[in-house]
Amino acid sequence: MLRATKIIATLGPASEKPEVLRDMIRAGVDVVRMNFSHGTVADHKARHDLVRSISAEVGKEVGIMADLQGPKIRVGKFIDSKILLKEGAQFILDIGCEMGNQERVGLDYKELPGDVKPGDRLLLNDGLVVLRVERVQGGEIFTQVEQGGPLSNNKGINRAGGGLTAPALTEKDIADLDAAIAMGVDFLAISFPKDGADMAYARKLADAASAKYGVGKVKTIAKVERAEAIEPEALKSIIAQSDGIMVARGDLAIEVGNAAVPALQKRMIAWALEADKFTITATQMMESMINAPVPTRAEVSDVANAVLDGTDAVMLSAESAAGMYPVQTIKAMAEICVEAEKSDLVELDADFLGQTFSRIDQTIALGALFTAHHLNAQAIAALTDSGSTPIWMSRHNIHVPIFALTSKISTQRALSTYRNVIPVGLDYTKDRDTALQEVETYLKKLGAVKQGDIVVLTSGEPMGEPGGTNNLKIIQVK
Ligand code: PGA
Ligand code: MN
Repeated sequence: MLRATKIIATLGPASEKPEVLRDMIRAGVDVVRMNFSHGTVADHKARHDLVRSISAEVGKEVGIMADLQGPKIRVGKFIDSKILLKEGAQFILDIGCEMGNQERVGLDYKELPGDVKPGDRLLLNDGLVVLRVERVQGGEIFTQVEQGGPLSNNKGINRAGGGLTAPALTEKDIADLDAAIAMGVDFLAISFPKDGADMAYARKLADAASAKYGVGKVKTIAKVERAEAIEPEALKSIIAQSDGIMVARGDLAIEVGNAAVPALQKRMIAWALEADKFTITATQMMESMINAPVPTRAEVSDVANAVLDGTDAVMLSAESAAGMYPVQTIKAMAEICVEAEKSDLVELDADFLGQTFSRIDQTIALGALFTAHHLNAQAIAALTDSGSTPIWMSRHNIHVPIFALTSKISTQRALSTYRNVIPVGLDYTKDRDTALQEVETYLKKLGAVKQGDIVVLTSGEPMGEPGGTNNLKIIQVK
């Protein structure tokens, strides 16, 4: 059964063994996420290389995302890795502390004592722990525990209401960005952008690094996770300056309150689609599966509702990075997506019909979609170099799988986040008739089409030139 919604899995100790990673990819992972908030560049490089080699072995080009830590303010490490804070206890955030204990812990952002004042509520560990600031003395923030709970190495800190002022990309981020692009990642996720200018800056740094290492452009993802970023003007500019956005519900919920997030998720997905950008819905989607082999009813509904909202991808964090059941979680998620997609409404809405195009390739892309919809085609096949034809098509949901056939491995990987696009490696530098025949044979072999079915096919003439899609062909499978 083909699945339209993509699955992104964060790598970590639970998913490092080659046999686990292999099973995860076989179970349906489309993109892996390397979380640069944890581990060293060497750790990520090793993971990156392992993913590439297992992808090649399994025969599926998985996309790789480097998720930069960003100006997220985090506590340091603890001597015993974790502590348990009790309500009413005193606790100190101390920029000078090397290894934390029950009384105090270090901070990675040395400016924090200057940013907070008595009475502020600091939320740690995704809001599980709440500290109230009592006083600030030099590099020490003295607090009282308002809500107790577990706190472990490098957990994040937010201020209720937002507004902590760290720069968009820290020195560490800039170094990590460079290292990630040198490795050859496909996606770069930027944490805590405030507005489009932060994303434009990231784009500039990324492009410079790509040129330096002689690699292709990466796709940028804005993690929408601060109160400032959901203001309509900011959100619009963030979407405009990014290839995709992440509904980063963990931090977002802390800044704007849990209850505001579901409606924001719908708005973000709708606005991104309108701008031809992709969306990833993230955080706590299958949270209980960190420790249990089956999801809760609420988690099933959450994943299904994200699919019905039109998300391109759903993401796993601790479930796949540190959970007990990474492979089962992916299988369960895949099943929920497929089921939800069945009841998703097919729409070629008024918005689609009212669109006007100036580009030949875009006109062919949307013409193909219209044609496939009306002829009840079983498949769309797009011979693509840059991937833009299938991307345009995938922004409207007509329940016809879009096979993106490309001779470029980087395009296969870059298309891994787009809903309903199935990237396939195909060498079509040969003559046109042979290539088209191969597409038909491939789709038949895959079981995607059978004799008599309609396939709508787009290509460019001459073949193999980016942005050159100028052909629309309708074939009836022989
Ligand atoms: P994080 O981002 O896991 O890096 O914090 C996602 C989120 O905040 O939801
Ligand atoms: Mn976050």
